[in-house]
Formats: sequence, structure tokens, C-alpha cells
Amino acid sequence: MAKVFCIANQKGGVGKTTTAVNLAAGLAKIGQRVLLVDLDPQGNATMGAGVDKRTLALSVYDVLLESASVAEAAVRSEQCGFSVLGANRELSGAEIELVTLERRTERLKAALAQADRDFDFVLIDCPPSLSMLTLNGLCAAHGVIVPMQCEYFALEGLTDLVNTIKQVHANMNPDLQIIGLLRVMFDPRTTLQQQVSDQLKEHFGDKVFNSVIPRNVRLAEAPSYGLPGVVFDPSAKGSKAFIEFAQEMVQRIKKM
Ligand code: ADP
Ligand code: MG
Repeated sequence: MAKVFCIANQKGGVGKTTTAVNLAAGLAKIGQRVLLVDLDPQGNATMGAGVDKRTLALSVYDVLLESASVAEAAVRSEQCGFSVLGANRELSGAEIELVTLERRTERLKAALAQADRDFDFVLIDCPPSLSMLTLNGLCAAHGVIVPMQCEYFALEGLTDLVNTIKQVHANMNPDLQIIGLLRVMFDPRTTLQQQVSDQLKEHFGDKVFNSVIPRNVRLAEAPSYGLPGVVFDPSAKGSKAFIEFAQEMVQRIKKM
């Protein structure tokens, strides 16, 4: 049975996609069967996992509109060791098309149920908004992983996300919970980041993952090679942190 996680945060540029592709690669490295679902029309996770979004025959768009199954539309990234249900600009149309359709927030959940036995982990990279696409992700998931930078307004931004997750939990998906907050792009030398990190632990306790992802230039360079940092340079500090995070996730799901 696959465990399904959304990587979500309504802010852009906080490290969602970096987390999605590197956690996928880290989990694959430790022997897990992983499907990465790109729900962002920008297709950054697709490209960052070595799959060319411009030449996709089928994508998550076709899956949401029920013209293809996950098994038909997912492609295997051999270099990365996991499967990718890709996205490209076509997906931005789905937003409007879904509005008039039945079960519009349940489409991804239904499609993933068919692929349940093929994977241990399904990771969904969400767009930076609370859209029909993100709702499809949240309705399909057992839990949400929230990457966040330890900056001044970080806690304030979290309130909106936590409320959204509560609403989805109450009205659409009783399974949904926040699995954890992942501190990313972390610089331990910055006093402010340390303070925000301490506040996070105070407010959210063990919902804050033990693993911390440092700011690391190799993680930022890797996408231009079409690879997750974990594959591009496994010895980089950031890559090691993601492998540690993958191990922490494997431990966490044992308790779910
Ligand atoms: P999002 O998907 O939330 O918009 P991204 O994962 O695309 O965010 O990250 C935004 C930018 O920050 C990208 O240029 C990415 O390469 C960079 N980045 C993300 N995480 C790190 C990190 N740990 N160290 C250095 N750069 C990072
Ligand atoms: Mg992104």
C-alpha cells in the first residue's frame, strides 16, 4: 500500500520542488518504490527529475481528465530510480476544465488508488496556491510535508496553510494530517533563523522533522542538469541531508 504525501506551502520559492525531487531520489536510493507526481503547470519537478516536459506523450493532465491511467502516463526516470507523472503548461487548463466536472477534487485520489500496489511512496509536488490542483493533491494524500524557510514571516504564513489543511481534513479527506515541517535552506549561522527554528519547535513540537536541509549551492545547481541534487552530487551536504530526511520519512510512516 502506497503512502501518499503532498509537498505543499502556498508560498512560491520556498523549496517545495527541491524537496519533492530530492526526497523522491533519497527514498529511491534506500530501496523504496517511488512515484513523483508533478501538480505544478510549471513542470519544474518533471524537468528536475530528468523528464522533458516538452515531449511528454501523456501527463498528469490526462490522468485528471480520466483519459489515461497512472500506469499509462507515468514514465520511469532511470537515472533517478523513480517514476514520474509529469506536468507541463497543458495542466493550467485543467484548473478550468475540472470546475464543471463531477468529483472534481477526487480525480487524483481515484487514479492513484489504481496504482496503490506499485509504489511505497507517492510524492505530490503542489503549485504555490490553493487551487483545484492543490485540492486534488490534498484529497489524495495521507499527509502533508511543509517545507519552510526559517524567516520572520514564516509562522504567519503557516497559519493559512494549517487552516486549509484543517478544512480539507474536516470536509473532504479525514485521513489528511500534517506529517511534518521541514526546515529548508537553513543557515545555522544566522541568529534569526535559529530563533525561528526554536519557535517552530515550541509551537509544533515533534511535527518539526529532525532533519534540516542546509542552504547548499549544489542543490540549486542540480536542476540545470535535469537531476535532483541527491543524484547529481550525492556527497554534497544538501544531498546527504535529503538522504537523512528520506530515512526519517521511512521511520515516520511506520508509526502511521
Ligand atoms: P518552490 O517549488 O517552493 O517554488 P523551489 O524548490 O523551486 O521552490 O526552490 C526555489 C529556489 O531555491 C530554486 O532556485 C532552488 O534551486 C533553490 N533552493 C531550494 N532549496 C535550496 C537549498 N537547500 N539550498 C540552496 N538553494 C535551494
Ligand atoms: Mg515548485
